[in-house]
Amino acid sequence: MPDPNGFLRYERRLPARRPVAVRITDWREVYPPAGEELIREQATRCMDCGIPFCHDGCPLGNRIPDWNDLVRTGSWDLAVESLHATNNFPEFTGRLCPAPCEAACVLGLGGQQPVTIKQVEVEIADAAVARGGLNPRPVPASTGRSVAVVGSGPAGLAAAQQLARAGHAVTVYERDDAIGGLLRYGIPDFKLEKQHIDRRLAQLAAEGVQFRTGVNVGVDVTAEELRARHDAVLLACGALQGRDTPETPGRPLRGVHQAMTHLVAANRVVAAAGDGRPAPAVLPDGTPIDAAGKHVVIIGGGDTAADCLGVAHRQGAAGVHQLDLYPEPPHGRDAERDPWPTWPWVLRNYPAHEEGGERVFAVAVQEFVDDGTGQVKGVRIAEVTVERRDGRRIVTALPGSERELPADLVLLAIGFEGTEEQPLLAQFGVTRNARGAVDARPDWQTDADGVFVAGDMHRGASLIVWAIAEGRAAAAAIHSYLGGVGDLPAPVDPARQPLAAR
Ligand SMILES: Cc1cc2nc3c(=O)[nH]c(=O)nc-3n(C[C@H](O)[C@H](O)[C@H](O)COP(=O)(O)OP(=O)(O)OC[C@H]3O[C@@H](n4cnc5c(N)ncnc54)[C@H](O)[C@@H]3O)c2cc1C
Ligand code: SF4
Repeated sequence: MPDPNGFLRYERRLPARRPVAVRITDWREVYPPAGEELIREQATRCMDCGIPFCHDGCPLGNRIPDWNDLVRTGSWDLAVESLHATNNFPEFTGRLCPAPCEAACVLGLGGQQPVTIKQVEVEIADAAVARGGLNPRPVPASTGRSVAVVGSGPAGLAAAQQLARAGHAVTVYERDDAIGGLLRYGIPDFKLEKQHIDRRLAQLAAEGVQFRTGVNVGVDVTAEELRARHDAVLLACGALQGRDTPETPGRPLRGVHQAMTHLVAANRVVAAAGDGRPAPAVLPDGTPIDAAGKHVVIIGGGDTAADCLGVAHRQGAAGVHQLDLYPEPPHGRDAERDPWPTWPWVLRNYPAHEEGGERVFAVAVQEFVDDGTGQVKGVRIAEVTVERRDGRRIVTALPGSERELPADLVLLAIGFEGTEEQPLLAQFGVTRNARGAVDARPDWQTDADGVFVAGDMHRGASLIVWAIAEGRAAAAAIHSYLGGVGDLPAPVDPARQPLAAR
């Protein structure tokens, strides 16, 4: 029986983040562990309410009240088991998920602060490692069927683990030199240190999953060859087509990059340094992969922009501006617009924002300014209003509001336009829809029989929790397609959307 008064006795508390002055001198994670006393106290705040809306907020259907109570009573082994029943990789979501479950926590209804669900999750995930490691599950007798998973992000890896545990032979093909998708080189170490990925990969390998890195499917191996080798194929290639702004004057200047170009290169430098390997110091256009001493302008307001901000500070930028087209969001939930338990539009402050830099809202870039040698020296911006008319976005600059910001390095973090156009698509006979994503039938198959899709490639750029949920669901569909015995869990169907009021 949970403690019905826990939330009356304890305030919501998170562990203190490492001091800014210390953490920007290294690439280690921002949050230290909470410690057992704090996390048991916080888990005690869970009321185990009659209808736990947090379940619906979490695409994985994590059994949040169950494991909160197990943590409260110190039953760590059972908590580890309960959490892994629905989530293959809680060490990723516990660190990185924006926690839509917390927006749906019933405590939020009465004006209380939600339970620190995500922090409890990461503490359970880390307890699993501390208490004997991520032991591989015994693999059942082989079904004799084999599956190719293309792409090794959280969607592909969740599917691979589910299918291997059901007895299928699984090979993950990844064009990069390391497994992990965006977790590996997209997301910086200060949000996710890479030993968490490596530990999980060791578990998957011990469960029989084969990994092939440096294989660009559609180029190094054709779709036809892959289909001949395997009984089913899962495409989990992500949504990595970065949005650009080719019409903005000065876009071709040196020093103006896609954010992911800079971010991935910077994360590779960190990875190489950790392994004692040399790493390239410049991008293909000769620009140093370093913001040291530079004025940096980041265009965009999401995860990618915040990650660029944290990287720029750790590289020693002279100053950073982060530009957003939209006005500053409210600081608390607007109940008219986004009633509980939906995900509210509010100002999101990432740890990177307390490390410095200036956020500028409701502005649009008018021009990237040339220093006379083909290198950017500034960004001319104007204040704008944004409205929707007939489904289109109309951006209007306010006359006389233009000004110039200094900029030696400009990073475009303005979103993604779906999965990349690449040879693999035509070879498998699948197409991108108007959003650049690949549609799935209700059984997760694409237009091509036996070819399934999951994660960002299906949903468009989204979240790790959705990628894992879709990977699990697609694995269940593949298991059934292959005539596997029994059902695997399928937390979502392809049409599932986040909780919304309209
Ligand atoms: C900078 C950044 C920060 C983010 N931060 C967060 C966060 O804090 N929290 C959160 O929840 N989400 C975050 N996200 C979103 C999250 O990373 C993605 O939603 C998630 O990784 C999608 O998983 P996926 O498996 O679908 O695809 P991905 O992780 O994109 O993996 C796709 C993989 O497919 C491989 N691939 C593509 N084509 C081929 C081919 N032809 N052959 C072989 N391999 C191929 C790619 O190399 C890649 O490794 C962030 C995204 C970015 C860009
Ligand atoms: S995965 Fe995300 S939504 Fe689900 S319980 Fe964890 S933090 Fe909440």
